[in-house]
Amino acid sequence: MPTDTLPTPEQSPSAPSGELIRLEQVTKRFGDHTVLDRLDFSVDAGRHVTLIGPSGSGKTTILRLLMTLTKPDEGTITVAGRRLFPAPEKQVREVRKQIGMVFQQFNLFPNMSVLRNITEAPVTVLGMAKDEAEERARDLLELVGLADKRDARPTQLSGGQQQRVAIARALAMRPKVLLLDEVTSALDPELVAGVLDVLRDIARSTDITMLCVTHEMNFARDISDQVLMFDSGRVIESGPPEQIFGEPENDRTREFLSAVL
Ligand code: ADP
Repeated sequence: MPTDTLPTPEQSPSAPSGELIRLEQVTKRFGDHTVLDRLDFSVDAGRHVTLIGPSGSGKTTILRLLMTLTKPDEGTITVAGRRLFPAPEKQVREVRKQIGMVFQQFNLFPNMSVLRNITEAPVTVLGMAKDEAEERARDLLELVGLADKRDARPTQLSGGQQQRVAIARALAMRPKVLLLDEVTSALDPELVAGVLDVLRDIARSTDITMLCVTHEMNFARDISDQVLMFDSGRVIESGPPEQIFGEPENDRTREFLSAVL
């Protein structure tokens, strides 16, 4: 892939490694329900980390906290050395720009063309020149295999194509980290492979940091260099995919995997 389509210069192979995301003692409650209880959690730059575990264990909540779609009750969140929570609103907006997210439901702007869906935020939020944003959008559409769909409306695309546009749209903001929340769950089975192929390509050809929540164990095995098994708001086991899927040590991990594989 040409270097000008890499998400950011910081993700070049010479990028400094080290911790990119850190949650410290994060507690999140919904009413009486404590979903995360003093969670410590970190992701190193350039890593492709997948969160697996039973439904309701708090995986999506972690992504939503990082995206500032919800706030912790206690604790701190730091991204690339800067505080995301607690932090003044202006700083939150700055730090938040380093994070891109792709949702289960693609959430594209239905009244805009594919190209405009991708250029809108770089132009309005980053202040990028329209020409530059369009050039980059074309590169990204090439990357996700949709170069011929730039003028289409989202409703004219299949779910898999819409999700690939959503991936391009997230990358257009040049995030340091890409959060992927069950990105294939809403897709018809025959459309899943195309989306996973694109993500695999991005994982291999860039060193953007990825934090994924998925039920697709093959995808987790394939794309991740670290798998975290979550249960009741805690990481109960972590390791490279060959270890977690091949020789899980924790009984809960074994039970979970035998139920889903
Ligand atoms: P997972 O991604 O592991 O399935 P979630 O992070 O989505 O888990 O949810 C963890 C728990 O928090 C679940 O019990 C869920 O019902 C609850 N929860 C998540 N979001 C909300 C919300 N906005 N209001 C109330 N409860 C919520």
